[in-house]
Amino acid sequence: MAGQKILLHICCAPCATTVIRRLQEAGYEVFGFFYNPNIQPAKEYYKRLHETKRICKLWAIPLEIGDYDWDRWQAEIRGLEKEKEGGKRCPVCFRYRLSTVAQKAKESGIGIIASTLTISPRKRADVINPIGKEVCEELEIKFYQADWKKQDGFKHSLDTCKKLNIYRQNYCGCKYSIRPLTPKPVIAQTKPRVETKPQPEVLVKPKSEVPKRLRKKKTKPWRRNRRQ
Ligand code: SF4
Repeated sequence: MAGQKILLHICCAPCATTVIRRLQEAGYEVFGFFYNPNIQPAKEYYKRLHETKRICKLWAIPLEIGDYDWDRWQAEIRGLEKEKEGGKRCPVCFRYRLSTVAQKAKESGIGIIASTLTISPRKRADVINPIGKEVCEELEIKFYQADWKKQDGFKHSLDTCKKLNIYRQNYCGCKYSIRPLTPKPVIAQTKPRVETKPQPEVLVKPKSEVPKRLRKKKTKPWRRNRRQ
């Protein structure tokens, strides 16, 4: 395989960091292909593309850019919008992208493709690899099956991003995978509770229960005046 060309589907720059290195170490001549019409909004798409161009330039990897055919992708996943990330929408999204990559490789005379997708801890290699294999077999080319997150692959990508100051997104790509920001916990501003000692109950006996001899005599006002 020394010097064999491989067309690498790049989903974003952070995921590509480890994969490009590993494929080069395995002796492949890597050609990048950015094909991700799933990314929304468009501003995010161009941000990820910009970072991909930056690392490819840095490591002298030729890069081709696929169409941003967002409408076609949307039509493909219709009916699956409410699925969670990792649910039924994702295999459709993987197949859509990988079949275009396989087609591109076939047209370019490249006999094998790979994808950066399995580096994410949220992506299952046992779902992606069989899809890649299937779409490639239809065109009589090969799919490089891998689980890039293994052997600290994901950690390596985090370290490289930090070192090269590469933008890392916080969601997969489509608008359905955008996670709401977790609100900061609100610290209660209530006054501290002051504990008060329980007061002993004061029992007041009804007048009728006080013996007559102990009852205080009321002095009539005119008598009080006489004594003065
Ligand atoms: S969550 Fe990611 S893999 Fe799944 S459909 Fe959206 S963009 Fe595609």
